[in-house]
Order: sequence, then structure tokens, then C-alpha cells
Amino acid sequence: MSRPVLDCRGLERTYTTGPAEVRVLHGVDLQVSKGEQVAIVGASGSGKSTLLHCLGGLDEPNAGSIELNGEAFTTVPESKRCILRNRYLGFIYQFHHLLPEFTALENVAMPLLLGRRPLAEARELAEDMLVRVGLKERMLHKPSELSGGERQRTAVARALVSRPACVLADEPTGNLDPQLAAGIYELMLELNEEQGTSFIIVTHDLSLAQRMHRVLRLENGILQPGDGEQTR
Ligand code: ADP
Ligand code: MG
Repeated sequence: MSRPVLDCRGLERTYTTGPAEVRVLHGVDLQVSKGEQVAIVGASGSGKSTLLHCLGGLDEPNAGSIELNGEAFTTVPESKRCILRNRYLGFIYQFHHLLPEFTALENVAMPLLLGRRPLAEARELAEDMLVRVGLKERMLHKPSELSGGERQRTAVARALVSRPACVLADEPTGNLDPQLAAGIYELMLELNEEQGTSFIIVTHDLSLAQRMHRVLRLENGILQPGDGEQTR
């Protein structure tokens, strides 16, 4: 089997708030292969966001290691982590996190510009991606001029425009009504097949989770086979 796109071993994360210690992640192991779709489910407060933040290098685990395409991600300086994050990862959040003063096109071009791609190329790739997610007519709109579903499609375009190896999505449809949520899922799974991008999606919608290749449940700080996964 080829090397995993994301390889996480023995991840530990404990928060210390005053005298209280909250042990959130307890030795999480996760290997994701190229093009794989992984759903992570779990009760509210079980640590799903903490896990995605650690996987994305936005939060620092207390122990354990993460590799992206075989490159160390946890033990490197923040400047190097930024480069790896930009090269290998895309992010989609529950609330779109688009920059309000920029158009959809500018928002989608942003990761490419941060990755030092030339402006004309960034613009062209961003336009192609916005066409792909069905927003050809909305490219010059600002987030406040888009509907909730359109904003989230813009966020999907932004996550995928740099052709990342892996997209990390934290309840990407949690804020949308069920029909729009299903449409966004459809889009993400189509792009997964077209581009061979791996997806790790946190959701509490089990019916959406079960449409993915693998469902894992975060419980008591570790990942276990979740509902819907075939037992062997
Ligand atoms: P989920 O996304 O599954 O709802 P979270 O990862 O947001 O769960 O939170 C897991 C636990 O960690 C919760 O008990 C939460 O209160 C705690 N927690 C999360 N972030 C912090 C933080 N920055 N400081 C202290 N505790 C935190
Ligand atoms: Mg969360």
C-alpha cells in the first residue's frame, strides 16, 4: 500500500484550565490513504474539533506525531508547518470563515496567493474552481451578498483550489438545512473522486457520515470503528 496522506500516532491533548485538567485526546491513531473519505462522529464535547485542530497544526498536541505525505508535521518550526499546511491541507469550517471584505473570487484565490502563486494563475484557478462549484455568476459577490449554501460552496472551493492532499472539514454543513447540507456533501464527494483528495469530515449527521468510505467514532479520547463501519 502507498504511504498514507496523513499518519497520526498516539496523539494526546490535555487542556489545563486553572486547577482542572481536561484530557481530551488520549492516544489517537489515524491513517488516511490517498482519496479516502473518513467521517468522524462523536458526542458534543468529545474532542472532534480539538482533533481536527491538531491534525491541521492549529493546536499543539501534548504528545504523539503527525506526518503529512511522510513529512514530519508536529515536530517542525511553525514557519515550516505553515508551508506544509498550505501545500497539503485544505480546511472547511462550520461557519464559512470567508473574509467579509473580499469577493468570492478573492477569497478562493487567497490560499494560492499565500502559496506565492502568480496573480493571473491564482485568478484563473480560482475562477475554474468557482465554476466547478456552481458559482459562475457569483464570483464578484462578497460573502454578505451570498446565501448560506453559496457561502459554504465558496468555502469548499477555497479548500480545494490548491489541490490539497487532504481536506479537514469540521461540521461543514452543520449550519445548513438538510437539503443544502446533502448538496454540499454531494459536491465534496464528487470533488473527492475527481481530484483524489482525501477528506476527513467531522459531522454529527450519521446518514451523511455513512455515505463515506469509513466512519470513526471519537469516544473517551480515542477513535474507534463507528456505526456503519463493516466489522471484519
Ligand atoms: P467537539 O468538537 O467534539 O464538540 P471540542 O474539541 O470542541 O469537542 O472540545 C472537547 C473538550 O475540550 C471540551 O470539554 C472542551 O470544553 C474542551 N476544550 C476545547 N478547547 C479548549 C481550550 N482551548 N481550553 C480548554 N478546554 C478546551
Ligand atoms: Mg466541534
